[in-house]
Amino acid sequence: MADVTADRGAVGVSQGLGRAVILLGPPGAGKGTQAQRIAQRYHLPHLSTGDMFRDNIQRDTELGRKAKPLMERGELVPDEIVLGMVANRIGQADCAKGFVFDGFPRTLQQADDLERICRQYKLGCTIVLHMVVNPALLMRRLTGRRICKAGGHIYNVYERPPRREGICDVDGSELIHRPDDSEGVIGERLHAYDRQTQPLVEYYKSRELLTPVDAMAVADTVTEAIARILDGAIAHK
Ligand SMILES: [Zn+2]
Repeated sequence: MADVTADRGAVGVSQGLGRAVILLGPPGAGKGTQAQRIAQRYHLPHLSTGDMFRDNIQRDTELGRKAKPLMERGELVPDEIVLGMVANRIGQADCAKGFVFDGFPRTLQQADDLERICRQYKLGCTIVLHMVVNPALLMRRLTGRRICKAGGHIYNVYERPPRREGICDVDGSELIHRPDDSEGVIGERLHAYDRQTQPLVEYYKSRELLTPVDAMAVADTVTEAIARILDGAIAHK
């Protein structure tokens, strides 16, 4: 795997971005991987609302006490609680140099609130990386997944097939196709994602904060493209 951190001398990385980086993209677009790499390269905290929930519940904060019973019943946690946690987290010292958010915002209201919080903490303009996918290719990538029963080793019948069909290379156990990876289930998830995300794409596009990234390239190529965008943002600060 190419190490992008080492080869580019990381222009101005030590000062950090001073901006929020958001990744918008459907399941399977590689947001998690790229968010992690951005966080490493630019020394930014990698935020997720899941971590914030766990942290608030563990520390038994007021917001955590409100969220806990809702989560235990599998109910949606209202925006005001989520935003309270987000605002507290962004207010912490390590976020002053910027942060990467993966899986948030999900609604226009959340996007608006996030912008307000960033202004409040004097962060620069948000950088929104739009992970653009080819729906047919993405469907193939997702439906091709096979998981080994014994060790959880992951294969893809199209992109990373096992040497023997249906058998794990590592331990010889059976590979299964999970119901969650069926075309119907994935199709529904992708449609839901599109419905939810299209307004956000428009919102950020109209504010000229959106930068498209070809998410169908191999992961290292995507990482390099993102690094060029973020280095450019630092250079023109
Ligand atoms: Zn295995």
